[in-house]
Amino acid sequence: MIRIQTSQIGETGYAVAGEESGDLLDLARDPVARAAGPIRYELTVEAAGTELVVRGRAAADLRLRCSRCAQFFSTTARVSSFLHAYEWAEHPEFLDVSDDVREDLLLEIPGFPLCCADCKGLCAQCGRNLNEGTCGCAPPEEEASPWSALDGWTATPGSRPPAGGPGRKRK
Ligand SMILES: [Zn+2]
Ligand SMILES: [Zn+2]
Repeated sequence: MIRIQTSQIGETGYAVAGEESGDLLDLARDPVARAAGPIRYELTVEAAGTELVVRGRAAADLRLRCSRCAQFFSTTARVSSFLHAYEWAEHPEFLDVSDDVREDLLLEIPGFPLCCADCKGLCAQCGRNLNEGTCGCAPPEEEASPWSALDGWTATPGSRPPAGGPGRKRK
């Protein structure tokens, strides 16, 4: 839990920093992402009228499964501008920002993670990881384009509408 003691915040606010278990991300059953270390955070808390404004940053090391080659790779999710406001009266003793830190970090996980920008993925026929080398399979045939029937098409000369045809007004 990332808890901030609010009972003694005073007018100047204060800073909190630390680490929290990566289990907080609740990724145990996620097929694509796993926590690979603690969540690190640096937050400042300020009183603004009746609100507590929490700003700062957080980061978590992750293992993500590549969308193309299905291998796990290491990366770091970073929230560089955490900013949330809370009603001070609702948190007279402690303010728990765990949920907001978790949600902001999870938003940083890409929807289509790639181990590298030019990941070659797996061979669709033998399943070999093509980043590790080529396989002996024949390259997949190019899919026929729906426009390929037009490839041999050429405009017939003289096919323009005759001058003075229907619908054409003479001056
Ligand atoms: Zn990959
Ligand atoms: Zn293959």
